[in-house]
Amino acid sequence: MKTSEDLRQLLDRIDHRGYPAYKDTKGVYQFGKYILSIDHVQGDPFAAPSRLSVRVPGRIAGFTEELFDKKHKRIALQDELIRNFRNQIQQYSFQAKGSGKSGVISVTRCSQEILERTACEIETRSGDVTVRFEVGFPANGRTINARELKKILYDFLPACVEKALYYRRLDKKKVRDVMELSEDREFIRSQLEVKGLAAFVANGSVLPRESGVSQRPMKGAVPFVSPKSMEVTMELPYKGTISGMGIPRGVTLIVGGGYHGKSTLLKALETGVYPHIAGDGREYVVTDDAAMKIRAEDGRSIKHTDISMFINDLPNGKDTTAFDTEDASGSTSQAANVIESMEAGTTVFLIDEDTSATNFMVRDELMQRVIHRDMEPITPFIERVRELYEKFGISTIIVAGSSGAYFQVADTIVQMDRYVPREITKLAKDAAMDYPQLKLPEGGIRKPSFDRKIRSNPDIRSKGRVKIKTMGRDGVMLNHETIDLRYVEQLTDSEQLTALGNIVKYLEERGFDGRKTLGEAIESLCKELDRKGLGAVCDGSYLPGNLAMPRRQEIYACLNRYRCLGTVRSRR
Ligand code: ADP
Ligand code: MG
Repeated sequence: MKTSEDLRQLLDRIDHRGYPAYKDTKGVYQFGKYILSIDHVQGDPFAAPSRLSVRVPGRIAGFTEELFDKKHKRIALQDELIRNFRNQIQQYSFQAKGSGKSGVISVTRCSQEILERTACEIETRSGDVTVRFEVGFPANGRTINARELKKILYDFLPACVEKALYYRRLDKKKVRDVMELSEDREFIRSQLEVKGLAAFVANGSVLPRESGVSQRPMKGAVPFVSPKSMEVTMELPYKGTISGMGIPRGVTLIVGGGYHGKSTLLKALETGVYPHIAGDGREYVVTDDAAMKIRAEDGRSIKHTDISMFINDLPNGKDTTAFDTEDASGSTSQAANVIESMEAGTTVFLIDEDTSATNFMVRDELMQRVIHRDMEPITPFIERVRELYEKFGISTIIVAGSSGAYFQVADTIVQMDRYVPREITKLAKDAAMDYPQLKLPEGGIRKPSFDRKIRSNPDIRSKGRVKIKTMGRDGVMLNHETIDLRYVEQLTDSEQLTALGNIVKYLEERGFDGRKTLGEAIESLCKELDRKGLGAVCDGSYLPGNLAMPRRQEIYACLNRYRCLGTVRSRR
């Protein structure tokens, strides 16, 4: 292997030459105790910065096995190391000078959620730690300034690597706390099943956020306190006894006046599928990890989806057992979101009236009297919600402040009262007794057909190189095709969208064969992801450090919104 000395000589040789000569630095170098790899060199000082990685051998990094011997612990430690590394490099970014992005040093900015990211990887067996980051190779105009790059590689980085990634240099207690929190959360997650819960919200949790643009906890918020009747207590491995609200499986209704904190609770449940960092306020809010937010999404496309559970006999005669549209209505989009989530193995639906199509949710008694059932294509969710649970085991947690219709079908009713939940199941049920009973449609629901075979789209394929561009948290582009993901609300980080772009590309190139259904193609991909991580869907010579793992649910959601999806028409 080449050494740091070889690189130094090379840099001296190319100093003051034209920028492309930097390309020669690509390679792997032994840098004292760690290995520096220059994976990709930018084409000019104004282009996206160069991609580098550092690999510290396990015996040097020195993390004890107990800190990463389970997947959730490893992911939590990786997340912590990215944050450490970011703290270190930030003080050096742009300390080396030059034109354009010269001197920038950057690594993923982690969110409140703890995600598996390619920015840091700990190898389970060796304990080797790899961190992937970016450096703007310095130039004056377009002339190489190697002296400034030497500052970065020989002065700044070694200090950062040591202070951020060597266990002996870290606050041991802090590292241990990360591991313990991760274990405790995982314990709660495992208890959901044992105790028959869809979610758990610990007493003392802080649910509201600082603002619409900040995910930090709100200061001075009313802490969460469970109603006594719903309180569940657990003995966590490290933190000890913890109590909180257990939301049972089944149908749970959250009601209350406007502004009393209903949506805030539901939002917390939505992100409760991910672990949170210490201090977030939602560390011990844990939702079944296959829970899915369901909302209306006018204008989305729907591909060959069996929405007949909710929509039938459309006036235009369209087949709703294999429904296609490029421009869905509120109700059809929400119906498709339910069905697609079922295919993705969702166990809990999370629904907020604020973001639902009213005609999808309920149809009131008076309207039923005036407009006969035969004239209404929509079977509202309220008429299916019980069966979804009883037949398919899918629970629903639903926020409804303006309609009492769901009282009759709910197992548990919680009222948010000035941010404090109260259980009012009996009270609400009694009040609902005097009202006309909900009439259910004849004939029960049947399992939707998920038989959608997918072939790869020749348009995307024939273009040769498929270019992926992430538009923040809003969507991802494959060449000129945009996949709109704004309303897939549990996507929490733009790096997940970048990963989804790679996943779609991978499936187009290698997954869709015209024989496998969408579900089969995704399931076999998920196995690959499980085995190899996100490297499985990256075909370049190196793994970029800007990917985060999405859930299976979001992989389905992304592909279902992909307008170029090559559904094979079945002959019926
Ligand atoms: P709803 O959905 O019931 O209308 P929201 O959940 O939107 O109410 O909450 C209304 C406002 O109250 C929001 O600005 C939110 O940040 C704030 N809020 C929510 N929960 C709390 C709390 N526990 N303490 C203080 N403020 C809160
Ligand atoms: Mg609301």
